Amino acid sequence: MTVSLQKAVESARQALQLAWDGSIPVKPEAIAQSLIVYKHDDATNTVQNIPIVVRAFNSQLLDTASGQASLENSDNGLVFYCDYNADEISYRNRFTIAHELGHVLLGHVHEGKKRLRDATFGNSDPVERAANAFAAELIMPEQKVRELFYGASSVQQLSEAFGVSNAAMSFRLNNLGLVR
Ligand SMILES: [Zn+2]
Repeated sequence: MTVSLQKAVESARQALQLAWDGSIPVKPEAIAQSLIVYKHDDATNTVQNIPIVVRAFNSQLLDTASGQASLENSDNGLVFYCDYNADEISYRNRFTIAHELGHVLLGHVHEGKKRLRDATFGNSDPVERAANAFAAELIMPEQKVRELFYGASSVQQLSEAFGVSNAAMSFRLNNLGLVR
């Protein structure tokens, strides 16, 4: 595992520690909206508290993308937005929200820059891989996966418990060295 992916996993663990009640499926929307990003403004030497807002968009508004992340100026100051395509199935939405939150917390999203828009998650771009690593740890926390793995009778039982696709669960188990 490269350093940046390790950093992404640690960032997800930190988010879980701060805002997760320990139950599964993990609710990335609730986690996102209970976190605040502290941003130092060098110009004024002040610290801004930036809230994170999750928005459901339809497929048309997102140009069929799965999601996007942005930092925008609202009436109440800066806001990070994590938008997801509500026309996609719920387990996809859960991954998308977690992935967009990853972009926000890993510092990929900047004011005045174009929105980060995600059409596919099978990307080899290091920024996208970091957001994917963040999302995997957030919605399938390693500790919880290990805890439930030995009592589970099938991958499907685990994927249902974590609210993810069978493919995502299998990939995760493989990644953690639990199955080959
Ligand atoms: Zn992305």
